[in-house]
Amino acid sequence: MPRNPSIAERLADLRGRDLYRRRRVVEGPQGREIRVGGRLLLNFCSNDYLGLAADPRLRESLRAAALRWGVGAGASHLVCGHTAAHQELEEALAAFTGRPRALLFGSGYAANMGTIAALLGPGDRVLEDRLNHASLLDGGQLSRARFSRYRHADVADLERRLQADASGSAGSGQALVVSDGVFSMDGDLCPLAELVGVARRHAAWLMIDEAHGLGVHGRGGRGLVDAQRYGSAEVPVLVGTLGKAFGTAGAFVAADEDLIELLIQQARPYIYTTAQPAALAAATLTSLEIVEQEEWRRERLRALVARFHAGLAALGLPLPAATLPIQPIVVGDPTRALALSAALDAAGLLVGAIRPPTVPVGTSRLRVTFTAAHELADVDRLVETLASALRKVAEEQGHG
Ligand SMILES: *Cc1c(COP(=O)(O)O)cnc(C)c1O
Repeated sequence: MPRNPSIAERLADLRGRDLYRRRRVVEGPQGREIRVGGRLLLNFCSNDYLGLAADPRLRESLRAAALRWGVGAGASHLVCGHTAAHQELEEALAAFTGRPRALLFGSGYAANMGTIAALLGPGDRVLEDRLNHASLLDGGQLSRARFSRYRHADVADLERRLQADASGSAGSGQALVVSDGVFSMDGDLCPLAELVGVARRHAAWLMIDEAHGLGVHGRGGRGLVDAQRYGSAEVPVLVGTLGKAFGTAGAFVAADEDLIELLIQQARPYIYTTAQPAALAAATLTSLEIVEQEEWRRERLRALVARFHAGLAALGLPLPAATLPIQPIVVGDPTRALALSAALDAAGLLVGAIRPPTVPVGTSRLRVTFTAAHELADVDRLVETLASALRKVAEEQGHG
């Protein structure tokens, strides 16, 4: 009988295919530049889109709240870890997203897994965009609902699948359509208005993950799912994360009263985990005020991306289909992505090489992200360095 490969063989296989991943040890706070291995690198790979992760007001808020609340939450929310600070943040996030309730989770991964698995079960259906974030896909698998992936942003394909299921054996279960709002590796937007229409026609629920839209897009950073247009009747399940534009950590689900109550009763990653520190909730409240008020941060992002596109166009490079602030440069094979990332690193620029399985085979890429902490001159340096790295790697590969 063939045996499964050993751990050592599996690692060797990943190395051989340039799919081995290594962590960098970062030696200081997030920001426009970060210190790695004693060098300061211009940082184009964080999701700290508004440049808030090391904001002095957030630090001060965390410090003051730690003095008041201590550090550990001590227990899960359902035991004795749910503090007035968590409660206040949940109420503020509900108001921000225009939903009756919001529920905090320890991470976006936990929120997505827990929510889908709690809402659905055998006999139900879950339909997901092929390029959805891993946590959404994993939640769909875990739920034991019938799982299908529709072609990326293809509403006609989604509708065909909903129709086929309805006329087939799937029965009378609930259908849930799930999509990233802004796709995490491509930076493009989901076709929200069309998704809302299809979900309505098929009486399906719609779940939108706003991990990369919140704080960045929309009125006061409310994301794509602005409650003035899309209330909980249109988008019954809204997920936001706090570790990206908000600059802190954790996540939340915003929805109607009963849906949130069901999650409190049955979402296992909510129930069986220690609450996040109260001080972190307090810092996130401070962040929420800044996100709403400091429109200049979103304007800065728009200016940076416009500059980047102008630079790429001048070089004759294709422009990413992305909006803000994720700007992937798809290069194809993982070896080329790693070589480009290494060439940029040697020039003092940190840009992540994203490879399968995070992205589909054949679409390895540099994932460039901008933050409100960047200057226009940083973008110019990125474009120039990118141009010479592309030339260098093309020559090397041509000769190899
Ligand atoms: C980052 C991300 C998550 C996970 O959020 P964490 O709080 O980092 O666990 C979920 N969904 C999407 C689309 C993401 O990009």
